[in-house]
Amino acid sequence: MNCQEIPKYIQLYIDGELQETEKQQLAEHIECCPRCHRLVRIERQFKMIIIQKTRTIRVQAPARLKRRIRTVIF
Ligand SMILES: [Zn+2]
Repeated sequence: MNCQEIPKYIQLYIDGELQETEKQQLAEHIECCPRCHRLVRIERQFKMIIIQKTRTIRVQAPARLKRRIRTVIF
């Protein structure tokens, strides 16, 4: 796998949806290529932020809803 191919596979790699052979090839490449390694790290961080954000939204939604209901009732 080379630097041009990496971006095509990064998303699948992070999501763990890559075939075993492709996963191995990508892992081997990023081990010796700092540029692509960085790319994977950034993508992974980005995904984590998205997960955290959506989790926060999910937690906050019921509280906001409760407040709104309370405002309507009282
Ligand atoms: Zn590379």
